[in-house]
Amino acid sequence: MTDALHPMCAKCAKVVCSPAIGIDEAPTLDEAPSFCPMRLFPELVDRAVSEYDKPAVKEFARLASIQEFECYERTDEGMRTKIPRIEELTQFASKCGYKRLGMAFCLGLRKEAQMLTDVLESKGFEVISVSCKAGATPKQRIGIKPEQHIVGPETWESLCNPIVQAEVLNSEQVDLAIMLGLCIGHDTLFIKYCRVPMTVLAVKDRVTGHNPLAALYLSKSPYYGRLSAKRSEAQGAN
Ligand code: SF4
Repeated sequence: MTDALHPMCAKCAKVVCSPAIGIDEAPTLDEAPSFCPMRLFPELVDRAVSEYDKPAVKEFARLASIQEFECYERTDEGMRTKIPRIEELTQFASKCGYKRLGMAFCLGLRKEAQMLTDVLESKGFEVISVSCKAGATPKQRIGIKPEQHIVGPETWESLCNPIVQAEVLNSEQVDLAIMLGLCIGHDTLFIKYCRVPMTVLAVKDRVTGHNPLAALYLSKSPYYGRLSAKRSEAQGAN
């Protein structure tokens, strides 16, 4: 453990980075907490913000902000959200002028991959898709023992192969790669090897219909209270 301060925006009560002020006013950062990244790394923040001076980066960020804006509507009852992420995806891809979309999907979500392909094709996109088992590489290739096979030691199991997925989509020069339901760790490798713009439609959660926040929302309830238990308590409960 060190006493050095590190950014902890998740614990910030001030949130002076997003002040409720008029458009002509300037945020005052004096009240930012000591762990605020704007205090700890002012030069880094300036340098990072200057990236938006690059025309392509600026335009991409502008389109993303417009997409964000279009997800809300102001009504007499207040602000309302309008569209699900899948529609955001098609709208944003259209805004960017993308034609050729790549999908890296988990074979366990093959039906969802077919449905997503239908949706994207109906909006005029070409869809290239690669399953996580592409490569048909046995798990032994990365040191998995037969007794560590999910369906049993007697059965062949293909490795989830996010590097193949990424390299195929790189080679196909898709305009945008979409991750659909990759597992933890496999998604990390996909992101590491993917060299085209990439977004996520859904991540794998085998218990909550691929909605990991459902368990988080229940973490203060008896149902998933173990998530909030200290590690030793949780281990004792297991
Ligand atoms: S950037 Fe600073 S003010 Fe904003 S949430 Fe993080 S710590 Fe708080």
